[in-house]
Amino acid sequence: MRKIEHRVRFCTLILLAFIAGIIGFLVRYHRQSERWYEQSFNKHLYSDTGELLTGTLTDRNGVVLSSVENGTRKYAISQAVRMATLHTVGDSAGKIGTGALSNLRDYLVSYRRRLGANLVDPTGNTVVLALDSNACLTALDAMNGAVGCVGVYNYKTGEIVCLVSTPTYDPTDVPADIETNDSYRGAYVNRFFYSTFTPGSVFKTVTLQAVLENIDGAADEFTPDAPRRTYTCEGSVKVGDNIITCPKKHGTQTLMEAYANSCNCVFASLAAELGGETMSAYVAKAGLTSSYKIHNFQSTKGSFELASASAYQLGWSGVGLHHDLVNPCSLMIYLGAIANGGKAAVPTYITRVLDENGKELSVPKTVYTEELIAPSTARIVRGLMENNVIEVYGRDRFPAVAMGAKSGTIEQKTGKSNCWFAGFVLSDEYPYAFVVYLEHAGSGSGAAGDVAAAVLNALIPVP
Ligand SMILES: [Zn+2]
Repeated sequence: MRKIEHRVRFCTLILLAFIAGIIGFLVRYHRQSERWYEQSFNKHLYSDTGELLTGTLTDRNGVVLSSVENGTRKYAISQAVRMATLHTVGDSAGKIGTGALSNLRDYLVSYRRRLGANLVDPTGNTVVLALDSNACLTALDAMNGAVGCVGVYNYKTGEIVCLVSTPTYDPTDVPADIETNDSYRGAYVNRFFYSTFTPGSVFKTVTLQAVLENIDGAADEFTPDAPRRTYTCEGSVKVGDNIITCPKKHGTQTLMEAYANSCNCVFASLAAELGGETMSAYVAKAGLTSSYKIHNFQSTKGSFELASASAYQLGWSGVGLHHDLVNPCSLMIYLGAIANGGKAAVPTYITRVLDENGKELSVPKTVYTEELIAPSTARIVRGLMENNVIEVYGRDRFPAVAMGAKSGTIEQKTGKSNCWFAGFVLSDEYPYAFVVYLEHAGSGSGAAGDVAAAVLNALIPVP
């Protein structure tokens, strides 16, 4: 009798262990099966070279940017579109780290927990990107062969509507000399997310922000009818133990005029007056030394050497030179925050996701930055940037919506200057922030401003 009792107890233990194992498996299956399923060793979804063989990417207007036909991944029909969207869509060889094909596979793969897979219909999901491929084409065309990048996004929703990085190439016809030909140097790098560049005068916006909040009475000047302090530019000024120069003598100016004239003498003196620690704190607050998480990758941080700089170095740093380096994406987000009153959305590729039957699936929620600029300061900076467009850049070059901008031109030892044109549109319908950066292309207000104008005119219809 005792023997039987022992056996029953033993069998019960085995049964309980078995049930516990099954429960454990079901819990892990429920939590992780989707992740297991998407791994690149799943030959139902990936080719031998690791290329995702399910899912369609379209632009916001339904233009197919990549799909799978007869077990092969295809790209946009137009070669120009393939080149203009390469760094957002990605490539078969997986060289483009910021490509949607590798970063959005969670959304491209259609997975049914009960059925396991989409083996019945290998189409997968359709991810509708926020990208406007026509605006990307316009940007690539307007860049006219220059190396650089263009980014435009909705600072309220985070949707990236235009993104071009050059040099680029056709992912279906990779140039044989891509590794050796200098004109393709860095072609795999998405410069918008992964590079940093000397900001030049676009950085005066951060110095302006620090001035408004730290120089006595500076912000008060912008209340109605308040008297305005004036600053004199003689064409050069001694900052610390050395001379900082302007391209010309700007004469007597208000702060608004000095910003519109992009006066080095005034902004270098003000940066030195503010000091390295204050300038450092404002660079960090503006998010320019932050890295942003965009889907599965991180944007590159900018870098500044302000805390240890001498007064003279701080002067050049305050006008965006010395060792200042800024990432275009962080700069665009900062401009979005100025337009949006302090905070901006973090960029995203996705507008909608549809399953094989056209049913809408959930998309990631919009993520917002910390406060990058105090709302009251943002209001003043916004006004001064609008003034730049009206007084300096030319209202009639741009769409008929309120907008603000700042240019930057960085002279090079040889060849044309590197240049920036960065700003925002103030519109409920088109709340866009934008950044254009071009190497050896000319002036910021000229060459980079022309690219910005072409892209914004492609995105915003004439009313
Ligand atoms: Zn000046």
